[in-house]
Amino acid sequence: MKLLPGQTVLLTGASGGLGTHITHALAERGVKLALVAHPGVDLEKLRQEVAARGVRAVAYQCDLRDAAQRRHLAQQVEADLGPVDVLINNAGVEHTAPYHELSEADIDDVLKVNLEAPMMLTRLVLPGMLARRRGHIVNMSSLAGKSGPAFQEPYAATKAGLIAFTSSLRATYRGSGVSASVIVPGFVEAGIYASLKAQSGCAAPALLGTSRPETVAQAVIRAIERDTPEVIINPMPVRPLLVLTIFCPRAGAWLANKLGANDFFRRVVQVKRERGG
Ligand code: NAP
Repeated sequence: MKLLPGQTVLLTGASGGLGTHITHALAERGVKLALVAHPGVDLEKLRQEVAARGVRAVAYQCDLRDAAQRRHLAQQVEADLGPVDVLINNAGVEHTAPYHELSEADIDDVLKVNLEAPMMLTRLVLPGMLARRRGHIVNMSSLAGKSGPAFQEPYAATKAGLIAFTSSLRATYRGSGVSASVIVPGFVEAGIYASLKAQSGCAAPALLGTSRPETVAQAVIRAIERDTPEVIINPMPVRPLLVLTIFCPRAGAWLANKLGANDFFRRVVQVKRERGG
């Protein structure tokens, strides 16, 4: 669907590394913005930046792990800005660690923020979208959801879940005016990857490379406007590896290991250990 001034976009994770770029890309389209984060320390500053460009934007501090807060958010956004035309489920958290060392609370956080919240927020906005026969859902996944790298079990599982969730949504609501897209970035020079790099001094494997957050933001806009099912964003082509994995999982896993993502996360864990983190 074409993004037009006057439409309302609800963006989660707006204050994050990717979220700020998505916010600015959306602001260029003149849409009304519901900017969500938790705790959202930098959110008001972002809101003021886009408001200074003449864009109507409201900041919402909402813990997406909490069902009551999610319901309140959906109601409040509609009351403040009107019905949601586009929902972008971008908020995400991760823990790079051996799976057996994660606490139940760590795992629960990742499941709730990365998968439960997108599914439940989608459920809250869908009836209105269907009644108006117009709407788009964007789910921010990750290549981790395709390849399942080492030390990323909860994160990879939730990101794989978002890919399947998006595909089901598209199939169910085909022809209804409501659709969905999933964005699948590799390492991006912002947010989660930038923090891992800063904390550990480890850089993403050269064979995979990194993308710019602006590229991801533009991909989100294009996915909405062209109703693209899935956008993979990575400087090096990874689709051949994904195809190989479908036909020959063992060879795919061997090649994925050679590309270096497993080693990257292993090094991050080692450095964290050495630093007592
Ligand atoms: P980020 O900089 O860490 O930002 C995460 C965002 O989520 C922040 O706005 C944060 O709010 C918000 N958030 C965290 N917990 C929340 C909660 N309980 N309730 C509500 N909001 C919460 O991450 P990012 O790198 O921009 O990632 C954005 C998305 O892209 C994620 O889904 C991530 O998995 C995906 N992705 C990132 C990369 C990458 O390399 N960066 C690669 C592939 C996919 P606060 O700012 O208030 O903490």
